[in-house]
Amino acid sequence: MGYSWIVDQGVPVVWHPWMSNRVLVPRHSFFIWLTVQNRLLTQDRLCKMKIIQENRCFLCGVDEENIEHLFFECCYAKKCLELVRIWLQVDIPVNLVLSWWVKKKMHSLLIKHILGAVIASLMYHLWQARNQSRIDHYVPRPERLIQCIRNEVLARVRGKSLILKSQLARVWIENCLSRVI
Ligand SMILES: [Zn+2]
Repeated sequence: MGYSWIVDQGVPVVWHPWMSNRVLVPRHSFFIWLTVQNRLLTQDRLCKMKIIQENRCFLCGVDEENIEHLFFECCYAKKCLELVRIWLQVDIPVNLVLSWWVKKKMHSLLIKHILGAVIASLMYHLWQARNQSRIDHYVPRPERLIQCIRNEVLARVRGKSLILKSQLARVWIENCLSRVI
């Protein structure tokens, strides 16, 4: 299957812009780093290490789990991403999310950073949901996940006291980011 999600047209995703995103929650940026380095102990890796014998996605219960499936191909992940698209009215592609964000040109750098924080938070919470399912046999509703992401990113934006010089960013935060899902 390969890791097409971190390689865009043969070029590995440049991930350091993620680290310089001032809106990103630190534990999320660390999580992105772990993911890009392929350090997550997904079931396909545990199978290869012969720690487990069976590989089944904890979120959908249908397909085998690997990073690509977990974040981009699983029906649960796709549903969450679809909710983010509706919430923020941004056409985020299903795959190549990480490189899409790096390349994406926007009128406001702050909005771009907030979008990056949302994507990182989504990946972090997908992993948390996967762990919750593994331990408690309970998968939270995608809507619940998106509410957590919204609250977390909004708290980050407000807590950082970012100087909203741009009218565009102010309007976007109030009308889009703050929208009740
Ligand atoms: Zn799945």
